[in-house]
Amino acid sequence: MKSLDRTRLASLMQREQKRFTDERPKSKALFERAGKSLLAGVPMNWMRKWAGAFPPFVREAQGASFYDVDGHRYIDFCLGDTGAMTGHSPFATVKAVEEQMKRGITLMLPGEDAIFVAEELQRRFGLKYWQFALTATDANRFSIRLARQITERPKILVFNWCYHGTVDESFITLQADGTARARSGNIGPPVDPAVTTKVVEFNDVSALEQALAPGDVACVLAEPVMTNVGIVHPDPGYHQALRELTRKYGTLLIIDETHTICAGPGGYTRAENLDPDVLVFGKAIGGGIPGAAYGFSQAVADRIAARVQAAISECGMPWHVTRLGCRAEYLFSPSPAKNGQQAHDVMDFELERFMHLYAMNRGILLTPFHNMALMSPQTEASDIDQHTKVFRQCVRELVA
Ligand code: PMP
Repeated sequence: MKSLDRTRLASLMQREQKRFTDERPKSKALFERAGKSLLAGVPMNWMRKWAGAFPPFVREAQGASFYDVDGHRYIDFCLGDTGAMTGHSPFATVKAVEEQMKRGITLMLPGEDAIFVAEELQRRFGLKYWQFALTATDANRFSIRLARQITERPKILVFNWCYHGTVDESFITLQADGTARARSGNIGPPVDPAVTTKVVEFNDVSALEQALAPGDVACVLAEPVMTNVGIVHPDPGYHQALRELTRKYGTLLIIDETHTICAGPGGYTRAENLDPDVLVFGKAIGGGIPGAAYGFSQAVADRIAARVQAAISECGMPWHVTRLGCRAEYLFSPSPAKNGQQAHDVMDFELERFMHLYAMNRGILLTPFHNMALMSPQTEASDIDQHTKVFRQCVRELVA
């Protein structure tokens, strides 16, 4: 076998760097301009990792290719790191987005489409209940939090050199001596990930069992095939062992299909008949529009419902109006709260629910979490008056 001549590599690299820069004057100029308003000249810091002295700035993308601002055409094998796996700007997505954009962009209410998507996810992945998030990172975070909540265990377990987005708990690697340490380059962790996380090598069944045995691991967060450190396939029987051991020690199994969805429409989970407690699917789910979903088994959903009900009943007791610009809100205490705790303590969930439902039945929508009313430049004075009328009516009925 030939060995690599590093000097030759360095000189070839220099040649390619020069060519890259010489052929992209517009990208270079944009990068220089970007450096005055975007940190390190890029909208997201990891974009500095592109191999050239600056990233090519994109003019437009379609299908499996894109053009940069200097007119170069690229065959795109990156495809937004899975986000654009369906090809750039697929017709169906663009049409659906155009139609929806005209009908409102952000509400805090469900539409029928959410049910359609959940039914489709159910059909594809076999998990019963679904929730949506904006990124796969968020879906992973929500899943981990729920796992901790329902198992009442503090730790999670991940595989060495895994990647699940910017989930703080997952930035941990094994050292040569077998100890776990924060991954190098980890930025501003809230706590040392060694406190929150156990890490073992993928395909190492005995290390997995040893880590799960103490019974303090809420969940294993796993890509079914590792894809973020090259592709590392599971050994035959590994997934069966992973499932058996997680069940044996009462640990939930979260399968992150964000990348492995490339294995087929039901991801690796369907292709290989896996049986996770929770499944996360992001990126490609939106045909390029950021979005993610996480699904649970019936057993997990039952445990979540039991815990959430307990949290709801803990809500505090009993008004005045407080205002911030075009945002107003009534609180169930005689005077304004001085801090978050005071504000929290005067919330009255039952009363809020009644007042919100009363308003909704009379054509008025308030933010569901407290009593916040937000006004836009299109909100008319008559809209405010209508709210006041309904509010008064409601209070009169209450004190009658
Ligand atoms: N899970 C896996 C397996 C990923 O590879 C990534 C990102 N590449 C994420 C989650 C995070 O995705 P997002 O950027 O949508 O948060």
